[in-house]
Amino acid sequence: MIKWHKLNKLCRGGLQMIYPWHCVVCGLMAEQGICSHCLPLLPRTQHVCQRCGLPLIAAHSEVCGQCLAKPPYVDHIFAPFWFLPPLDRLIIDYKYHQRWENLSLLATLFAQYCPPPVASSQIIAMPSHAQRVRQRGFNAVYELLKAIRKRMIFTHSFAHVARIRHTEAQTGMRREQRQHNMRNAFALKKDFQTQHVIIFDDVVTTGATVNELAHTIKRAGVERVDVWALARTVK
Ligand SMILES: [Zn+2]
Ligand SMILES: [Zn+2]
Repeated sequence: MIKWHKLNKLCRGGLQMIYPWHCVVCGLMAEQGICSHCLPLLPRTQHVCQRCGLPLIAAHSEVCGQCLAKPPYVDHIFAPFWFLPPLDRLIIDYKYHQRWENLSLLATLFAQYCPPPVASSQIIAMPSHAQRVRQRGFNAVYELLKAIRKRMIFTHSFAHVARIRHTEAQTGMRREQRQHNMRNAFALKKDFQTQHVIIFDDVVTTGATVNELAHTIKRAGVERVDVWALARTVK
């Protein structure tokens, strides 16, 4: 069977070899995939809560009031960017329009800003709905993590977690509704051989999904669960 996403990737890869130096944001000449004018326009996260990744109001605190009052299962979220223009478009075009040049740039940017993981940790990709993967023809989060893996050294696994329940689309749901919707959404296929797991996802929206997965992983005896994401949605 022809793997259309691989063919598409090959064609775009070929085009990139012919016209390699253009900025994915503005289309002007750029050697690194993004030009020096557009790079500073990417919305970097700064001074955020270590637990939930949202902006902090108090100057010297590390954790927000909400996380102090009710600590989430996730111990730490690292996301170098806000899910805002022009970065949101790069992720959307990669996921929904298979813009492979964006994949390469996003992986390079993430690897550039991400601190190296501790050696004993293990990284897993957020599991996707099989139905969505079939519709798109590829697993967007899995491909992204593979591309980052080429640029950073870490231990990863793709076979630990399954999504067991088809959850409703969460758009428009309130926080409590999202938490309820995600309950028992995941199951572990096998035990982790580490006490420190990192979940990789492309975008953290409310945090309800990663928090439910972190809950599932911690129930299996893992002590610490961090999240790596390309971008965080600002509330
Ligand atoms: Zn540009
Ligand atoms: Zn917080």
